[in-house]
Amino acid sequence: MSFDSIIMVDWSASNTPSPAKPKKDAIFVGQDDRRPVYCRTRHEAMALIEERLRTTPGRILIGFDFAFGFPHGFAAALTGQANARAVWADLDQRIRDGKNNENNRFQVADSINAATPGDGPFWGRPASLNLTHLDMTKRKQAAYPEFRAIEGHSTGAKSVWQLAGAGAVGSQTLIGLAHLHRLCETFADDIAVWPQDTGWSKPDARITLVEIYPALLNRAPLDALSRGWDDSDPIYQIPDAVQVRALCHAFHQAQKLGVLDRFFAEPAGLSDPAQIAREEGWIFGVTTELQTLQPPPLRNDCFALPPGVDWTPVDDALALLKDRLTAVTPIETVLLNAALGRVLAAPVTAPRAQPPAPNSAVDGYGFAHVALGDPPHRLPLMQGRAAAGAPFDDPVPQGAAIRILTGAILPDGVDTVILEEDVSTDGHVIAFRDGVKPGANTRKAGEDVTEGAALLAKGHVMRPADIAHLASVGIQNIKVYQQLRVAVISTGDELRDPHEPAGKGQIYDANRPMLLSLIKDLGYMPVDIGRLPDDRDTIRAALDEAAQKADVILTSGGASAGDEDHISALLTETKAMSLWRIAIKPGRPLALGIWQSTPVFGLPGNPVAALVCALIFARPAMSVLAGADWKTPHGFDMPAAFTKRKKPGRREFLRARITDGKVEVFLSEGSGRISGLSWADGLVEIEDGARDIKSGDIVRYIPYASFLA
Ligand code: AMP
Ligand code: MG
Repeated sequence: MSFDSIIMVDWSASNTPSPAKPKKDAIFVGQDDRRPVYCRTRHEAMALIEERLRTTPGRILIGFDFAFGFPHGFAAALTGQANARAVWADLDQRIRDGKNNENNRFQVADSINAATPGDGPFWGRPASLNLTHLDMTKRKQAAYPEFRAIEGHSTGAKSVWQLAGAGAVGSQTLIGLAHLHRLCETFADDIAVWPQDTGWSKPDARITLVEIYPALLNRAPLDALSRGWDDSDPIYQIPDAVQVRALCHAFHQAQKLGVLDRFFAEPAGLSDPAQIAREEGWIFGVTTELQTLQPPPLRNDCFALPPGVDWTPVDDALALLKDRLTAVTPIETVLLNAALGRVLAAPVTAPRAQPPAPNSAVDGYGFAHVALGDPPHRLPLMQGRAAAGAPFDDPVPQGAAIRILTGAILPDGVDTVILEEDVSTDGHVIAFRDGVKPGANTRKAGEDVTEGAALLAKGHVMRPADIAHLASVGIQNIKVYQQLRVAVISTGDELRDPHEPAGKGQIYDANRPMLLSLIKDLGYMPVDIGRLPDDRDTIRAALDEAAQKADVILTSGGASAGDEDHISALLTETKAMSLWRIAIKPGRPLALGIWQSTPVFGLPGNPVAALVCALIFARPAMSVLAGADWKTPHGFDMPAAFTKRKKPGRREFLRARITDGKVEVFLSEGSGRISGLSWADGLVEIEDGARDIKSGDIVRYIPYASFLA
């Protein structure tokens, strides 16, 4: 079950309300891709959070940026239980936090120091506050470890015992845990704290509460992530605000990529994982694994054209795409049986030889060739037989023969098999003519595949034949890229769906059903986002949804630079958009952009142009995004059954099919003629230069099937 909403809170221990104008080191509450909310007091923040938790439908992940537990030994010393939640309850009894942030955290630390063995662990206070048990400097003799286990896996963390001074986190923790205790009481069974309540597993409760540490995202990705947000909004000048929004985005992205659940699992290599979960806790999102399977995001400018480029030849456009794209889907392990159409994420080698042992290629009689005398040959037949799966275990003496069936392992002493049709027998002796060669009708061990041999390369797309190949050496599971999810959006006020009545001036949406089925045919997962009016906000929201649900987005319509061309206008807003004017017919400009880290292909609205551009540009690009190789379709040189004069300067694709060994083209080149797409079995590709094609001249024909291979 996935999270429908993600809330991230940057907390503060301030003594006074933060100023009216948002400033850093105050409280910021981020939720999904909404503008973060600045809160002046903790009471205001908790009221907002409670309200959001109540009113947001579905499952919620909520994170706060302070420690949810203390280093080993403290909980038991304070409460008698080695359990972080007991500490939360204890702090709730002690902490007073007023409407205007006035609080008693230093007095509480002082009283805890007095109540726990040794001198107590907390230190740091303002010089003006005179408290007997709370020193201004770090304890010389520490009663407890300075850090929790998690702090060994994250850099730059301060000790939670420190209450004052630059970057100190102890104060936030003391006050924050008291508030969280109340939050948990309010939401009771609806909320679970990970991993303190749940151990190392994903909670079932509607609300999952986790500890976060926003600084774990370093600046570089933040800058990139913040792109596309409203730059003029001053809130994004404040790092805390950027961080909470970026964290929501990053966790949503992780969920989309299927890696979020891994963060709930037990980190490898912990000394006492159950105890750490209960007593100390963990920062959500930190793994102890060295490698993470999440692929790097595409560069935001991956579709930028070199400066000065205007009309781009098709081959240059393809070369640019090929150069800039990489796999975007994570890796998973699947059963070989379920791997049809999937893209190998790692090379496959043979765990054993095929065949594993020498065996017979025919039904016949086996013997040792060296022992044959002068022809005709007569050999006594041994009792028994060798069959596939039922070997003959005794050696066959030289000069004798044994009945053997196809696929049976050659018994010791047998190196040659004679076909049963070439033999006469009375059941005791076989007789046959001369001419059988040594080793005849046998298969050697490993003659198909040797043990350890490289079988298939990374990026290979699995076909039924490949499944046989891997199955034959006993492979059960393979590593593949997760299936590429491709979102499809149609735009245009004039469009209607099949079940809707269509008035004058309205047409039925042809592109969306076409593109959704193309995606299925290509082996990817289609995600239908729907048909949209020419309305910028609606399209914006749909692109947001598509970026959440898919790895690539295909839109059609609205891709040029006119009034109603909202796709290109929206992609331009993100500053990661290129309008590629490709020298191709049919096809108007192709808008390429990145929307929330997800590549978008803005295809032309014309169905003929949309299909041609999808096949020529989006298909090979999706192949690379899915982890496979760049794919150039196989074309065939065929004689033309048509004539055509073509001007230089652009590549042309005609709807075509083969009749009587020649290529015919559709009667009209009009790009609104959808019937021609269905009439055709493929496309004729005419090169960029001028051509004067006469009947019988050779042209390049690309069957539709070549695009699917
Ligand atoms: P556009 O690119 O939005 O200017 O659309 C170009 C042409 O394609 C117009 O005639 C549209 O009506 C038509 N068109 C756009 N989208 C679709 C669609 N999904 N199905 C059929 N025709 C479309
Ligand atoms: Mg339109």
